[in-house]
Amino acid sequence: MLLRIFKEVVNSSKKMFILNYGLTLLMGLLNAVPLIAMQKFFDSLIYINSDYSAFFYLGLFIFIKMLSYGISEYTNYKYEFYDLTVMGKMTEKTNQKVSGFKPVFFEDSTMMDSIEKAYEGTGRMRRVVDTVMMILLYYIPQIIVTGIYLFMAHPLLPLCIVMMLAVVIITTKIEEKDYIDTEKATSNHDRRINAYCDYIAGIRSFKETKLLGMQGYFLSKITKALSERKIIKKQCIRSIGKKDYLKSGILLFCHIAILSILLLCLGNKTVTIGIIAAVMTSLDEIMEMLEGLMDELKGGISKAIGKIKMFFGIQDVKEEKDGNKKLDHISRIDLRNVGFSYPGQEQPAVADLNLSIRTGEHIAVVGENGSGKSTLVKLLSGLYEPNEGAVLYNNTDINDFQHKSVYDKETAIFQNYGKYELSIRDNIEIGKYGSFENTEKNADKQEMDYKIKTILEEVCFDYNKYEKLDETILGREFGETDLSGGQWQRLAIARGLYRNGELMILDEPTSAIDPFEEERLYNLFCKVMKNKTAVIVTHRLRFTMWADRIVVMKDGKIVGNGSHKELMEKCNEYKRIWEASDICRDGLIPSC
Ligand code: ADP
Ligand code: MG
Repeated sequence: MLLRIFKEVVNSSKKMFILNYGLTLLMGLLNAVPLIAMQKFFDSLIYINSDYSAFFYLGLFIFIKMLSYGISEYTNYKYEFYDLTVMGKMTEKTNQKVSGFKPVFFEDSTMMDSIEKAYEGTGRMRRVVDTVMMILLYYIPQIIVTGIYLFMAHPLLPLCIVMMLAVVIITTKIEEKDYIDTEKATSNHDRRINAYCDYIAGIRSFKETKLLGMQGYFLSKITKALSERKIIKKQCIRSIGKKDYLKSGILLFCHIAILSILLLCLGNKTVTIGIIAAVMTSLDEIMEMLEGLMDELKGGISKAIGKIKMFFGIQDVKEEKDGNKKLDHISRIDLRNVGFSYPGQEQPAVADLNLSIRTGEHIAVVGENGSGKSTLVKLLSGLYEPNEGAVLYNNTDINDFQHKSVYDKETAIFQNYGKYELSIRDNIEIGKYGSFENTEKNADKQEMDYKIKTILEEVCFDYNKYEKLDETILGREFGETDLSGGQWQRLAIARGLYRNGELMILDEPTSAIDPFEEERLYNLFCKVMKNKTAVIVTHRLRFTMWADRIVVMKDGKIVGNGSHKELMEKCNEYKRIWEASDICRDGLIPSC
């Protein structure tokens, strides 16, 4: 695992790796010099009065300190770039991988969770490498050099340092546990506070909260959660404070022990005053170094490893198997005993689906909410792979075709359409970028604008207030303006129509649009579908009149398939839906 992390980080930028960690090693080695310079300085002052060497050592001490400081600042600055480089490369890798996943993966909540953690893992990889490298190249050399120096002064001195190290390790471990326990105990409060703040000030709910006067309620909830959190945190701080006293006491004892040893040695003349001064002044630094080492070790490395594991897990997911045949034209589509269950669901969403569609046919799919209509079209379009049975295009299993060549023949307007926070022009054109590369993108802009405007007019999207189609960014998050649900849906329709595929899939394409416009749009669909194969899911029966055939779904099964007249005679479910519909009540039949 660690090896794999190193490999990824080194491969991200070999140059940066060598530069950063070369400097780290240099710093580790340089840090021992001030200790020796300090000793020599005092010894020169006390024992060799007339010499300039005291100044030399003082100068050396200051020089090395400044050099270390300079290198440390430089590496800190470089680290930021290095971090960004590694993170960028890893994110790119994850993006590439995730965009190749089967669409059905995104229905799986555990998979979604892994993907989220994998993205977090991309930011942690260099931290892990950094921790290991800091320990190997900075702390260990420094500890060895200082240890040897102290051992030469007196063999008992390194023992005192080991004791101090033990105290630091034990207390940080205990403090870490305190922090983790507190974190666990307050995480629920934190989540609640965030949620309540979002209800009051978040884009999605602030209107409702304000109008219905719910702020007071949420504010009091926040106050309560904050005070509960404060009590828990206070206990933690108090407990850590007590342990800190103990830690300081033991460390003070170590300091005194070291000083006593040194003074005894001074009496025996085995150490010089310079050594005592150097050791005493560097004790704080040694402590700082030990605490730094502990920080490196506890800096969430195990948590980071967990997330990095997800990163590798995602990288190791097998690519979607792609067929090798190219689909040139759809002459027929067949579903043979198709069954499908969503990930993690025991009950199949659809089962035993048998359906044949010939080129140019227009099929309407009707049925109650949850009867499996959307699942049917996702299977039919090749977006999801059936768990049972097969989807055939031109009598060949859809999996034998290159996915892209299948998608290129299709266009879709989904029930849950995308709200892309882009310009109007991009919102419409993106549907073509993937399939037709840059040919259309670079076409004459005026002509393109004309085409886009025509489609926008057809779907009744009033673009006049957006001066230039490619300048106003839509949406609230980072756009300048927002659209209503119906306007977003009109854009999705325009995008689907602009793409102009051979097979059109429309899944309740007008759910957010008012009834007057709906009629117009259905007429428009009739027009554009003239020479295409089309499958349209709708729960409004008045719009099934133009279809060649109506497919009725109930509880994940196809329970009817035929013309209105046939279904009225044979299919109870259809009859039931028909009798409950406005078309039956008002006798409104759309013209098409
Ligand atoms: P319809 O489009 O007719 O309303 P769907 O095809 O969306 O129906 O859903 C069919 C069944 O599959 C329903 O029982 C629904 O609860 C279930 N279902 C749909 N999407 C998911 C999903 N992502 N995860 C689990 N079950 C789902
Ligand atoms: Mg649906």
